[in-house]
Amino acid sequence: MASLLESGWQYLITNFSDFQLACLGSFFLHESVFFFSGLPFIFLERAGYLKKYKIQEKNNTPAAQEKCIAKLVMYHFGVNLPVMILSYPVFRYMGMESSLPLPSWKVVLAQILFYFILEDFVFYWGHRILHTKWLYKHVHSVHHEYATPFGLTSEYAHPAEILFLGFATIIGPAITGPHLFTLWLWMVLRVLETVEAHCGYHFPWSISNLFPLYGGADFHDYHHRLLYTKSGNYSSTFTYMDRIFGTDTGYRRLKALKVEAEEGNKKI
Ligand SMILES: [Zn+2]
Ligand SMILES: [Zn+2]
Repeated sequence: MASLLESGWQYLITNFSDFQLACLGSFFLHESVFFFSGLPFIFLERAGYLKKYKIQEKNNTPAAQEKCIAKLVMYHFGVNLPVMILSYPVFRYMGMESSLPLPSWKVVLAQILFYFILEDFVFYWGHRILHTKWLYKHVHSVHHEYATPFGLTSEYAHPAEILFLGFATIIGPAITGPHLFTLWLWMVLRVLETVEAHCGYHFPWSISNLFPLYGGADFHDYHHRLLYTKSGNYSSTFTYMDRIFGTDTGYRRLKALKVEAEEGNKKI
């Protein structure tokens, strides 16, 4: 497995320059993972499959879904790609490399765990600030246009917010100067995580059922359903920041009511 990965990596670094891999490779990888993981939820919603796991009754119209895709493609080429190109010298300066051998799994996993924790922390505070009146009205309301989120809405946001989210995502790698392989794995996991949080479905196999500290779709869907001043649940990945700072009280009350109602039903 490790040698297969290394020979694949060898192929990449012999055929492409560092710049091509870090900028165009990252862009291509991001687009593939984002659309492959997000598009299926559009079809699920349209076809009505797995309806019993859908969090909200409401569905998005095909026109609303298509508008989201069109804007995303525009922003990905107009904002994400230039940001990836412009941040390349910063990553080089911070010590990013792409040569063999690949870093050990211990290093890769420790760095990625650190990135998740740091990103969640930065995102939480940034997101709370985005929910103040002026910033919400002029910036963050774009992301909240979809009160019934589906996977692809995860990256649907005002360009200023895309820059902020990009900052929260790359601050960890920027200060640790990781191997490009680690950076790619982090990007893939972060995309899958945010697409899942916006997917609109809570499955029996959802990760949040296994790890209570993990937010997931049910947690973030609540944030989109409620009025912006009352929503809470500001974290991107975990639930503990909202718990510590008391911004998950509405969500927890609702969950407690649901459990009570279910228990009541059982008794009857
Ligand atoms: Zn928000
Ligand atoms: Zn969201």
